[in-house]
Amino acid sequence: MAVKATGEYLDDLVKQNGTADSVRIMQCKNITGQKFGRLSVIEFSHKGLRRDLYWKCKCDCGIKVIVRASDLRSGNTRSCGCYKIELLSRRHKPNNEAIW
Ligand SMILES: [Zn+2]
Repeated sequence: MAVKATGEYLDDLVKQNGTADSVRIMQCKNITGQKFGRLSVIEFSHKGLRRDLYWKCKCDCGIKVIVRASDLRSGNTRSCGCYKIELLSRRHKPNNEAIW
């Protein structure tokens, strides 16, 4: 039986267990502890169907949400949704008061 070189053996292990992805995430795309708007990244959640990476985040209001990494980086998602609601209510209040 041929003895595999250590490198090859590791590659095989990685292929079998899918460790490469987790290693890559830890090395290059680990954003744990970073803050995007109101969201603090707690930990890696899962990998989506399109190879998107999803991270578990905690909003300043206390709600935990799972957000796609690209949305965090692009600024599309900066809160659990409470920020948008606040913006909307702020925008609508003066109108409502004027009407009523
Ligand atoms: Zn929130």
